[in-house]
Amino acid sequence: MASSFSRLLSSRRNIGLLSLVGGSAVAAAFVLQREHVSAGAPVRRRYPASAEYPDLRKHNNCMASNLTPAIYSKLCDKATPNGYTLDQAIQTGVDNPGHPFIKTVGMVAGDEESYEVFADLLDPVIKERHNGYDPCTMKHPTDLDSSKIQSGHFDERYVLSSRVRTGRSIRGLSLPPACTRAERREVERVAVDALAGLKGDLTGRYYSLTQMTEKEQQQLIDDHFLFDKPVSPLLTCAGMARDWPDARGIWHNNEKTFLIWINEEDHTRVISMEKGGNMKRVFDRFCRGLKEVERLIQERGWEFMWNERLGYILTCPSNLGTGLRAGVHVKLPLLSKDPRFSKILDNLRLQKRGTGGVDTAAVGGVFDISNLDRLGHSEVQLVQTVIDGVNYLIECEKRLEKGQDIKVPAPIKQFK
Ligand code: ADP
Ligand code: MG
Repeated sequence: MASSFSRLLSSRRNIGLLSLVGGSAVAAAFVLQREHVSAGAPVRRRYPASAEYPDLRKHNNCMASNLTPAIYSKLCDKATPNGYTLDQAIQTGVDNPGHPFIKTVGMVAGDEESYEVFADLLDPVIKERHNGYDPCTMKHPTDLDSSKIQSGHFDERYVLSSRVRTGRSIRGLSLPPACTRAERREVERVAVDALAGLKGDLTGRYYSLTQMTEKEQQQLIDDHFLFDKPVSPLLTCAGMARDWPDARGIWHNNEKTFLIWINEEDHTRVISMEKGGNMKRVFDRFCRGLKEVERLIQERGWEFMWNERLGYILTCPSNLGTGLRAGVHVKLPLLSKDPRFSKILDNLRLQKRGTGGVDTAAVGGVFDISNLDRLGHSEVQLVQTVIDGVNYLIECEKRLEKGQDIKVPAPIKQFK
């Protein structure tokens, strides 16, 4: 467990104080400002960096397109204060040259400090993955005021279910690719203790994977409430399935409309979902529940990893910023067969997945459609993008049903 002293140092409220104090003993502990982060003990190697450089010739992921021999040689001897190395961070991208449906990032963070110690690689990877967002010069906005959402109720002849999720990491504890068993159990203890304080419609309880039967677990997966078993090599090669199912589980309210996954890809994933098309109501509950979870965590002396350049710090760089994925399961049997479908999604900044999750293909014309972006746009902006975009897709589907033509919309402007 992080000492109360180190937790005090890590507090976001102390940023000003720390910037004044400056000194390396203070700064080494936690990431607040990049210039204050010093690396851990250097990695000792028997062979030169050039002999260790991975073979990336067949790779198509953001890590592979940005990891030059020069960057590798500059960073390969570095480690974070917890001892996490560049080779550990990139292993998943080295072992997985590509993904059948999406261009992956190809690297993960082992702790909050990874984003600073390996910034020479992570900054360009973040810029590529987040469509031009520059983590050196830009600031990420947060907005959890759901009253700003316009027209958030979809046509339920097309939209079967609506969901909004994010991730949150607990400052001072290593992330799933690198945490020790004790750290992982501490994440579970801190989160479950805090979640017991949820009241009203958010009241619920924790279901540990170790205490669940195989049948109960499979039912939760089949009903789309629980993360899949860690079969994806993207997860296993990143070290996220170590010790499975130790300290993993799901907390949910009695209605199963507010759910928190513990120790899957992130320390926590916070989810609001329900059947039907009422995205506005799903987002209302998401914002209310998330603020309450943060308050309960802080009340116990902990806080979430966050900084103004990267927003909320999560395991996969693709989730930085808001960590938000707002999506629907939507029936688009005609549009999905149209050759313009992918271009329309791209221009609306939307992503498609199969309804069984990220590694599945769509069945029967039903897709999981969600926002492509996470960083540089607020939660409100991203949810509104999904609402407007999905409504456009449904309009296209209706036009195709009537034999009318559809248009590829103009691309939404990005940072570049
Ligand atoms: P995440 O990005 O939250 O990790 P995944 O693609 O890994 O999402 O899917 C996790 C689970 O959530 C899967 O069972 C998936 O079917 C379910 N899910 C995702 N979006 C929706 C949705 N809009 N409605 C119902 N279930 C969903
Ligand atoms: Mg997932």
